Amino acid sequence: MTNKKVRVRFAPSPTGPLHIGGVRTALYNYLFTKQHQGDFILRIEDTDSQRFVTGAEEYIIRTFEWLGISFDEGPHKGGNYGPYRQSERKNIYKQYVDQLLDKGLAYIAFDTPAELEAKRNETANFQYDASTRMSMNNSLTLSPEEVQSRIESGDQYVVRIKIEPEQTIVVNDVIRGKVTVNSSILDDKVLYKSADQLPTYHLANIVDDHLMEITHVIRGEEWLPSAPLHVTLYKYLEWEDSMPQFAHLPLLLKPEGNGKLSKRDGDRLGFPVFPLEWKDPKTGDVSSGYRETGYLPEAVINFLALLGWNPGDGREVLSLADLTEAFCLEKCSKSGAKFDYKKGEWFNHQYIQLKSDEEIAELFLPLLNEKGINAPFDKIVKIVSLVKERVNFIKELWEQASFFFEAPQSYDEKTVKKRWKEDSAARMTELSGILESVEDFSAKSTEDIVIPWIESKGYSMGNIMNAFRLALVGESKGPHIFDITEILGKEEVLNRLRQAIQTLK
Ligand code: GLU
Repeated sequence: MTNKKVRVRFAPSPTGPLHIGGVRTALYNYLFTKQHQGDFILRIEDTDSQRFVTGAEEYIIRTFEWLGISFDEGPHKGGNYGPYRQSERKNIYKQYVDQLLDKGLAYIAFDTPAELEAKRNETANFQYDASTRMSMNNSLTLSPEEVQSRIESGDQYVVRIKIEPEQTIVVNDVIRGKVTVNSSILDDKVLYKSADQLPTYHLANIVDDHLMEITHVIRGEEWLPSAPLHVTLYKYLEWEDSMPQFAHLPLLLKPEGNGKLSKRDGDRLGFPVFPLEWKDPKTGDVSSGYRETGYLPEAVINFLALLGWNPGDGREVLSLADLTEAFCLEKCSKSGAKFDYKKGEWFNHQYIQLKSDEEIAELFLPLLNEKGINAPFDKIVKIVSLVKERVNFIKELWEQASFFFEAPQSYDEKTVKKRWKEDSAARMTELSGILESVEDFSAKSTEDIVIPWIESKGYSMGNIMNAFRLALVGESKGPHIFDITEILGKEEVLNRLRQAIQTLK
C-alpha cells in the first residue's frame, strides 16, 4: 500500500450546482495528490437517475478550469481506468452483486415501497436489519423456487447487503483516527436495483474506488456515517488489502458557527455559495457565483484551503504551489470550520495587491468599455496603481477612480458644507492663476510650486487642499492630490476649478 502510486478521486454526484464545500473537498484532494506526485481523478457518480440534473457535470468541469485545478483523468480527459461516468459503467457492477449473492453476503428483497411504508408505520424506528429481515419478503424468507419465479414474472427487486450484527467495525481515518462502530446500528442497505439495473451509490463507489486503484478517499464529513458500510463491503468483496485510507474533512459551518453552511446563509448575508453562477434549468432561478461576483480564482483557492487546515506558522497568503508544499492531511481539523466570508473578501483584496498594475488594468478594461470610456492603457495603469489598495473587487475600482475619467457632475452636499468656505472661490481663482504658470505638470513639480505658494500667503493648508480636492473629485475621497493633478493634466484641472468656482460660489 505504502509504495503504491497515490491516486485520489473527486466523485461528485451531478445533482445540481457544485457547492463551495465540494470545491474545498476537491482542492484538498488535489493538494494531497500533487504533494505526492499522484493522480487526480474526476469520477461522476450519476447512478441516481432521479436526481440527475442536466448541466451539472459541465458546471463541475468549468469550475475547475476557472480555478486552474486540473485532473489527470476524467470524463473530459480520458485515462486508463475509464469510463469515468458511473452511468457508463453499468455492466461492470453486476458481477460484484452476483458475487455477494453467491457468498450469502447479500440477498434479494421484494418488499414494495408500500410494504416498507406499512412496516415503518407499524414499528417505531423500523430498520431493515438482522432483527427484522426474517419478517420481510426476501430470499432469506422465501423458497429459492419462489424467488426464481418472482424474478421471472418480472417482479422488481433490490439486492441488500447482509450486515452481521454485533461485530466491531473499525474505520481508520487519517484525520479522526480510529473510529469504532458496532455493526448492529447499521441497516441492510440497498446495493442494487433491478428497476434500473443500476447499483446504488455505496456499491458503485466501492467497486470504482477498487478498480480505479484509489489509495485515499478524502471527502466531506457527511460521508463518515457511510464509512463502516464501505469498510464492510471491502471485506465482503475480499479487497481489504487494497482498501484506501479514509479522511473525512470537517464541515463548513455558517459564519456564526451554528450549524451547516447553506445556500440560505449566502442569500441572507450576501455572499455566493457556488463557485460559478448557476441557472436552475427547471425554475430559471439564478444563484450567484464567486467568479461573477468578482473573486479571483487564486483568492478563492487560498480562502478555501484555510477552512479546516492551516500551515501552522501564521502564513495566510499562499499560492497554489505554496499550499501544495505545506498541506498536511493529518493536520486537518476535526471540528467544523466557520465560513468567514469576510475573510474571503480579504483574500481577494490581497490578491489584487499582488497582481501587477498592468494585470489589474487589463481586468478593469471591460468595465471601462461598458462605461464608454476610452483612455490610453498607460493612463489606466497609473490610475490603478493609485487606487487598487482601496478595493476588494475589480468592480470597485470604478467607484474609486471614475473621477479620473469624468469631471464631477455635481458636488457632494455634505462635503461642500464642510469644505467649501466663504473664501474658497477666491482662493481657487488664485490657485488657477498659479497652476496656469506651472510648466512641468508632474506631481512633484506642481507640489513644489503650490505648497510654497500656500505657505507664503499664510493660507490654511487644509482649507486650500480640501476645496481643491472637492473641485477635482466632487467629494472628499481619492489619492494624493498632486497624483490626481498629474493624471488629469493642466487643462482638465483648470476646467474643473473653473466649473467648481462657478457652481459653488
Ligand atoms: N458521490 C458522492 C458525493 O456526491 C461521493 C462521496 C465520496 O467521495 O465517496 O459526494
